[in-house]
Amino acid sequence: MTEGTARVHVVGAGLAGLAAAVRLSGAGLPVTLYEAAPRAGGRCRSYHDPVIGRTLDNGNHLLLSANRAALAYLEEIGASDTLISPTDGPLPFLDLAGGETWRLTPSEGPIAWWVFQPSKRVPGTRAVDFLKAVNLRLAGPDTTVAEAVGTAEPADTRFWRPLTVAVLNAAPERASARLLWTVLAETFLKGAAFCKPLIARDSLDASLVEPAVRTLERQGTVLRHGLRLRRLACEGQRVTALDFGSETLPLGPDDRVILATPPAVTAELLPELRLPEGSDPIVNAHVAVPETARLPDGAGLLGLVGGLAEWIFLRPGLASVTVSAADRWVDRPAEDLAARLRPEVARALSLPLNPDTPEQLPIRIVKEKRATFSQTPANLRLRPKPTTPLSNLLLAGDYTDTGLPATIEGAVTSGQTAAALALQPRPERAAC
Ligand SMILES: Cc1cc2nc3c(=O)[nH]c(=O)nc-3n(C[C@H](O)[C@H](O)[C@H](O)COP(=O)(O)OP(=O)(O)OC[C@H]3O[C@@H](n4cnc5c(N)ncnc54)[C@H](O)[C@@H]3O)c2cc1C
Repeated sequence: MTEGTARVHVVGAGLAGLAAAVRLSGAGLPVTLYEAAPRAGGRCRSYHDPVIGRTLDNGNHLLLSANRAALAYLEEIGASDTLISPTDGPLPFLDLAGGETWRLTPSEGPIAWWVFQPSKRVPGTRAVDFLKAVNLRLAGPDTTVAEAVGTAEPADTRFWRPLTVAVLNAAPERASARLLWTVLAETFLKGAAFCKPLIARDSLDASLVEPAVRTLERQGTVLRHGLRLRRLACEGQRVTALDFGSETLPLGPDDRVILATPPAVTAELLPELRLPEGSDPIVNAHVAVPETARLPDGAGLLGLVGGLAEWIFLRPGLASVTVSAADRWVDRPAEDLAARLRPEVARALSLPLNPDTPEQLPIRIVKEKRATFSQTPANLRLRPKPTTPLSNLLLAGDYTDTGLPATIEGAVTSGQTAAALALQPRPERAAC
């Protein structure tokens, strides 16, 4: 455990910072959490939208039953029962261009026998298209997904591309083959019990953020919103003060800092570190639909290919659409995106849509320009470890070297790792 009355200062109340603070305050340490924005949640947040007239998430977030760290975090904050599975059975897909539908059924065990059964495969694909997963396993650190599995059709459009974009938020031509393998090995290749999809029943805020804030408040953690860290004051190999511009907070001799800010902010605060560069956007659209609207099979989730929309999450009265790796789309006017996405949603939900009165389906476009760091082979080499040359400074965030993609699971894992390190007695360090 730690010496004296050392306090841990966690900067950034996204999921990495929240997970770190929850672990530390649960272990009885004094913790202060600082957040630049008026609310916690970072890239995983909700807000009330006046156009749609209800609480919306900044974007669809999918968890899988394999996400052990995220599920442990939900348990710690008493919110395990706020996740639901949008489908009990196979994952349904629709090709918006050709109208074909299919279902993806993970195997019960680790061997994907369905690959050898044409009726269970994605239409038009061959067993060999899926066996190329072995190439991901064997891929070198510089290999992209496209280099490993190729771009043969229709396996590219109907399987490898949607999978890569969903998991790594980057096209196969840019995304790291090794990182995709990590996810496949932990999910699909372990069997159905590890790839059950999970989503927040009501909102991201109600599942992942508010219960954490309530837990922290109950445990006496101080939460300070509206404080943006401007500079880390250092002496020797230690951080000695946190400079928020409006105020400077001196640190005690045994205090520690967990910097859980996004990579671009961390790079500004620690210019001597080389960190992953560049990010990839995600566009989301929330469409108000009739309460009676249903997806095929009554599922709460539908995968789409052949159009712009990639996933639809359906809650009563609300269809939420994801467009990942959206570099071509993110700078387009919201009206143009709405004009493309509305008919796709109407088609998937079998809703009539009169082109002269599109406003019958109110829509809100949400653009996240820096949704994830670019998960390219080059950037994976630059992911930092949680420890830094400064003896009392630790890093957390989905961009750090968790071995996982930039996801909720990655962010929570990074926060829990930093917390575990902050709970250890501080090693004497040689000056760097
Ligand atoms: C649209 C979208 C869809 C996504 N879909 C999925 C999905 O389906 N499944 C999944 O697992 N993941 C998904 N993700 C990724 C997931 O949201 C992120 O990986 C995760 O939220 C990152 O958490 P973080 O704590 O590392 O970073 P952040 O959420 O960025 O948190 C950093 C925090 O630091 C604060 N901050 C910044 N600068 C300062 C400063 N100087 N001082 C104080 N505070 C500061 C920020 O305001 C923020 O609250 C998605 C992301 C987006 C944007």
